[in-house]
Amino acid sequence: MKPTPVLAKSHWKQIRNEEFEVAVLPWGATEAHNTHLPYGTDIIEAEILAEAAALQAQEKGAKVIVLPAIPFGVNTGQHDIRLDINLNPSTQLKILEDVIESLLRHNLHKLIILNSHGGNDFRQMLRELGLKFPGMWLFQANFYQIPLPEKIFDEPDDHAGEMETSLMLYLKPELVLPLEEAGDGASKTISIGAVRQKWGWTEREWSKVTRDTGVGNPKKATREKGEKYFRYVVGEMAQLFFEVAKTRREEAYT
Ligand SMILES: [Zn+2]
Repeated sequence: MKPTPVLAKSHWKQIRNEEFEVAVLPWGATEAHNTHLPYGTDIIEAEILAEAAALQAQEKGAKVIVLPAIPFGVNTGQHDIRLDINLNPSTQLKILEDVIESLLRHNLHKLIILNSHGGNDFRQMLRELGLKFPGMWLFQANFYQIPLPEKIFDEPDDHAGEMETSLMLYLKPELVLPLEEAGDGASKTISIGAVRQKWGWTEREWSKVTRDTGVGNPKKATREKGEKYFRYVVGEMAQLFFEVAKTRREEAYT
């Protein structure tokens, strides 16, 4: 049997004498995704993408271990949407601190957070944790920002739209409700100019932005688009895992 790169599916028998070059921490969220995708969409995406990319990186010779996904994300802007579960950024920082300490104790010095949720932003935390733990090289990767070489989707996707729905139709079709019954993901934009131009920022009040919790129209989503997208982003992530595994930190800048 081929060794799995996923810690939750591994046994001590295999792990106790194994060394790894990089750990991957999938980080999702638990939140409503329009009316047709499940609350666990971001968790499912992060977990499956991380495993598939780690397998590919492993085949190329990288030693990767995927940690269990953190199921809750920052949902402060969706606090009034039923059973969206919020994890504050300060709690995320504490979780990361404990995970990093555990990894360092076991001779792991590289960590990639594979993020699948727009409300999560670990960059400032990674700056702070990087100072505190100079022995750990920290990365964040947002899979949904991977640039595509060709157009796969007709409509832009922000949340539960064409891209995310296509991906879920490929990964977990049994969890996707009929698209005819889904909301259209229509959204409003804030009237303040600087925020529209994106040099100003304020948190989006989700229930004022969208009626169905979606931002982006899911109606043109297909399984085929999802498969094409999945294959491409997994390849890009596998490359990231491989590069981080094989790059010596002292020689990272050329
Ligand atoms: Zn999502």
